[in-house]
Amino acid sequence: MSSSDPDFLDQARAAIASVGLPDGSSLGQSTRVSGLSLNGGRISVSLQIAPGEHEAFMPVRDAVEAKLRALEGVTSVFVVLTADSPTPSPKTPPKLSVAPAKPKPLAGVRHVVAVASGKGGVGKSTTTVNLALAFRAQGWKVGVLDADIYGPSLPTLLGLTGKPAKGQGRSLLPMQAYGLKAMSMGVLVDPETAMVWRGPMIMSAITQMISDVDWGALDLLLVDMPPGTGDAQLALAQGTDLAGAIIVSTPQDLALVDARRGITMFNKVDVPTLGIIENMSQFICPDCGSSHAIFGQGGAQAEAARIGVPFLGALPLSMELRSASDAGRPILARDPDGPLGRLYQDMARTVMGALESKAGPKATVQN
Ligand code: ADP
Repeated sequence: MSSSDPDFLDQARAAIASVGLPDGSSLGQSTRVSGLSLNGGRISVSLQIAPGEHEAFMPVRDAVEAKLRALEGVTSVFVVLTADSPTPSPKTPPKLSVAPAKPKPLAGVRHVVAVASGKGGVGKSTTTVNLALAFRAQGWKVGVLDADIYGPSLPTLLGLTGKPAKGQGRSLLPMQAYGLKAMSMGVLVDPETAMVWRGPMIMSAITQMISDVDWGALDLLLVDMPPGTGDAQLALAQGTDLAGAIIVSTPQDLALVDARRGITMFNKVDVPTLGIIENMSQFICPDCGSSHAIFGQGGAQAEAARIGVPFLGALPLSMELRSASDAGRPILARDPDGPLGRLYQDMARTVMGALESKAGPKATVQN
């Protein structure tokens, strides 16, 4: 079975045609299916809904998922409800079409890697930005996509101001900072507007940041994921063809439990965990130079060993790092070969090795 297997797509279309819609008609009689694609055994479907129809369409989504899962050869199913265009009229002729061949989003990007954490505030965004700069310092062309819709921090971390320029057609050009290409919901909409968005709107916003931004040729696009392991995260993980994920955690148990959930989520969609980074590992007192393990120490390292994923390194709790971030001048841009800069560069080199060897090790955690 391959992505160009027309028989299989026909079979999939037939399998979901009888799914009932809230208005009493069936999916096969509507134009709700706006995309159907196959990649290996992974099948993705997008269903067009109007804003406000999300709740009513949850059973439809579940039924489509169940029908597709039952087909032989399907390893995973990804059904997304999109509300980014007006609802199709039920009067239009019955047709279930495969999405027209659009240029593949991110076609010029060699590797897409997610940076994730189970919960907020562990330093995921700070780590993403400094790692991105560390990859760049190794000679890679790097982009950063801030998919953390509820708390976009890229504009602050990279000092982005103004709005992105328009590219060809309806595309947007990424912004530029410190030699990185960057895009964040924070430069597109007022963060307070995004706060009240629900699942499908978030998904279509993220999809647009991926497909409507002209990222051009990149060695690496780092995606700063929203914290947590809900539907939006899962959909994003599966929808972006990720080469791997990097998990950021603090040493405390609580954050580690959350980090484990993140790894489990990536496992579910066959995305390898490239490694765990322990952030805020210990505090080096600027006055006396002594080291204090405020959040405990070594938790993430021990966990990484236990579940068999690489440990990428530990970053100290550092006032210098925090003030550099808040000032929009990342530490890696300011002092790439300083002690912190070297830590990020070592991590970037390890990840580059794993990406180039194509075989990121897969974690074995079960829950
Ligand atoms: P997240 O993306 O996980 O929500 P952020 O990257 O926004 O977290 O970081 C949260 C806060 O912690 C920010 O003020 C940031 O400057 C600070 N921070 C992150 N990592 C460190 C660190 N290693 N040392 C000191 N402060 C840090």
